[in-house]
Amino acid sequence: MIMTKILVATQNEHKLKEFKNILNHEQIELVSLKDMNDKDDVIEDGTSFLENAKLKACYFAKKHQMIAISDDSGLVVEALDGKPGIYSARYSSGGDHENNLKVLKEMENIENRKAHFVSMIVLCYPNGVVKSYEGKVFGYLAQSERGSNGFGYDSIFYLPQYQKTFGELESTIKNQISHRANALRLLREDIDEIINHE
Ligand code: IMP
Repeated sequence: MIMTKILVATQNEHKLKEFKNILNHEQIELVSLKDMNDKDDVIEDGTSFLENAKLKACYFAKKHQMIAISDDSGLVVEALDGKPGIYSARYSSGGDHENNLKVLKEMENIENRKAHFVSMIVLCYPNGVVKSYEGKVFGYLAQSERGSNGFGYDSIFYLPQYQKTFGELESTIKNQISHRANALRLLREDIDEIINHE
């Protein structure tokens, strides 16, 4: 059987792990930037998830002459006019915990706690042709951090149907219902075309 190699264009180990768990397909071999010994980071100066995902996927697809996929994702909070949005990774000057605290602080005394995660996945061929897949998952902001599974804003993203945050939820369940899972499900529908692409 012919295996198609796809480069996962991320330096984020958590995302890589989720990609591997969600996208396991017998004809696809996922290769990481670490496998390629590539420590490059792309400056994400796009104005949308789509632009940033394209920047990352196409930079690495061209550089390594391989099909590359990237995910640009983030948390969108309704009462904060969509913030942190594309700035999710660098919302505060600290790390994940500080980002969570900043969002919780801005949401103090705000009743509308609706939020969703967006994952924009772009697949880029070495010739620059792209395909994009968007996934979302809807929930609410918790009042404080809960649980230590996952990464990023997982511990403050509450899913009423499970009465748990993503930080408390088993990773197997997160990987079935997450924004990234929903986007990758769409990508899987194109898998034959991707595998047979010249
Ligand atoms: P990116 O690497 O520029 O796409 O930034 C993504 C950022 O969005 C991460 O650093 C997290 O802060 C947040 N994020 C994206 N996906 C998730 C998730 O599944 N759980 C929690 N936070 C996430």
